[in-house]
Amino acid sequence: MNLAGEIRSFFKGDVEVSAKARDEYSRDASLFRIKPEIVVFPKDAADVCNLVSFVTKKKQGGAHVSLTARSGGTDMTGGPLSDSIVMVFTRYMNRLKGLVGEYVVVEPGMYYHDFDKETKKHGLILPSYPASREICALGGMVANNAGGEKNLTYGKTARYVKKITMVLNDGHLHVFKPLHKGEWEEKLREDGVEGDIYRRMHDLIISHRAVIEKARPVVSKNSSGYALWDVFDENRGVFDLTKVIVGSQGTLGIITDITFQLIRPNSYSALVVLFLDDMKKLGGVIKHMMRHKPESFESYDDHTFRIAVKFFPEFAARLKSNFFKLTISFLPEIWMMLTGGVPKLVLLAEFTASTEKEARRMAEKAEKDMRMSFGIRTKIARTNAEAEKYWAMRRESFNLLRKRVRGLRAAPFIDDLVVKPEQVPEFLPKLEQIINEYDDLIYTVAGHMGDGNFHVIPLMDPKNKRMKQTILEVARRVYDLVLAYHGSISGEHNDGLIRGAYVEDMFGKDMYRLFQETKHIFDPGNIFNPGKKINVSLKQSLANIETVSQ
Ligand SMILES: Cc1cc2nc3c(=O)[nH]c(=O)nc-3n(C[C@H](O)[C@H](O)[C@H](O)COP(=O)(O)OP(=O)(O)OC[C@H]3O[C@@H](n4cnc5c(N)ncnc54)[C@H](O)[C@@H]3O)c2cc1C
Repeated sequence: MNLAGEIRSFFKGDVEVSAKARDEYSRDASLFRIKPEIVVFPKDAADVCNLVSFVTKKKQGGAHVSLTARSGGTDMTGGPLSDSIVMVFTRYMNRLKGLVGEYVVVEPGMYYHDFDKETKKHGLILPSYPASREICALGGMVANNAGGEKNLTYGKTARYVKKITMVLNDGHLHVFKPLHKGEWEEKLREDGVEGDIYRRMHDLIISHRAVIEKARPVVSKNSSGYALWDVFDENRGVFDLTKVIVGSQGTLGIITDITFQLIRPNSYSALVVLFLDDMKKLGGVIKHMMRHKPESFESYDDHTFRIAVKFFPEFAARLKSNFFKLTISFLPEIWMMLTGGVPKLVLLAEFTASTEKEARRMAEKAEKDMRMSFGIRTKIARTNAEAEKYWAMRRESFNLLRKRVRGLRAAPFIDDLVVKPEQVPEFLPKLEQIINEYDDLIYTVAGHMGDGNFHVIPLMDPKNKRMKQTILEVARRVYDLVLAYHGSISGEHNDGLIRGAYVEDMFGKDMYRLFQETKHIFDPGNIFNPGKKINVSLKQSLANIETVSQ
């Protein structure tokens, strides 16, 4: 019996090997394409357990087999791609299992937009949603430690994960949550896989305190590496392994249930839009705006602006709003394009409060300060529809690039850089200087200004023979620049195949060894998503880059 046949003999969900299924799951939103041998759709956690046990045994018998989890498949790093078994959660394991108070239990395959509709009925949200909120699912948000436009105030997904149920290499379900002193001490005495993991992770963290603390990122967001620095809070006596599981890209085990603590957002918001022509003013603008404490502070550049106007019909379709009304609201942008008045950078600062009056007051105060102090063009969005237009330009830019630019393809490989916000005015021109040296790179820059986190998405011709070489050169130079500022190579998108080879550069040899040890403690057989995040072969990664657009 072949592998798929063997799996069918015990698996309740679907097992597919058709060319169509293998093709459909060979891509995410990254540059890569890897065809899985088998695609499976588990019905429930028992299916996941049985499959993990099966794969463990096969691997012990010497078979080339592994398990890679996939939720929405919107990863930009190649995280959910594999040539072995890909396990897709969105078909069946997509239920909201319970919502009590502000706590919600959910399966990893639930799409964020479905989840959001449900939680909003209770006046609650998970505020760490990414710009891909319409297409991603919760399993991927947790496994990537996703973040988004509300990060400045609310932080990333890790902050909201209160419990994770995960299948470990023994094929059993294990629950991870923050443990207080007596609880984790008891775990250290426990037999079996879980006790072993707690003992070894505790030892690792205690005996390498200094290395781990030194490697703690100094920027406000990071999804690179395993967040070992957040596991043991010695002051509070709390030991919390969810901190390394979140952001681990499915390399430590398979998540079957997540408990989130949600927040009750402010009911009213007002948006200040700044049109910046002179980049020399950026430093002052960031500093002043941060004093006004916006809930979000986002940005997009002139390339993004032009693409949004150029592909206006697609854009309008995405917004699902009245085409005529939207066209009218876009007239100022069209006018700017025609008269050559496109700003170098558009900055969005959102203020929220429990009353409309208060949100408006905060926005007006900030807007006046920006206008008076810097003499820049500003406006306050008058209606929700107008605010939505600016948000859509910010959120949808990458999606438009992925779908619309004929002959060229979006090439995310320096897509998630982070430096301290106060370093941005010095950092951005240096970054642009590097990219501008390459004639074959057209690109957009959008990002989370308040966090110093930038998404640079070049457009490249896949048929260009120099493409891989350019990627290698530019990535090396850009990551060297980021690291010279003690920044992070990934604020939220994670490492996967595209950045795995740079993780050691970011954290240093000693910390990298602890990452390898962490992977080994959880997954000694290397069955969970091997070759991602750590132990990544750059050569192998490059071989998987799709060089012909299909
Ligand atoms: C247009 C666009 C905009 C984006 N904007 C943002 C952004 O603003 N912020 C941001 O953080 N990201 C962004 N992303 C990247 C991506 O959408 C997010 O990281 C998202 O959270 C991934 O979710 P997913 O369900 O699609 O995950 P997938 O792509 O399915 O998987 C992501 C990773 O999680 C692992 N995984 C999935 N399910 C499980 C499971 N059950 N158990 C263990 N591991 C699992 C996979 O193996 C993979 O390594 C963007 C992507 C696109 C295409």
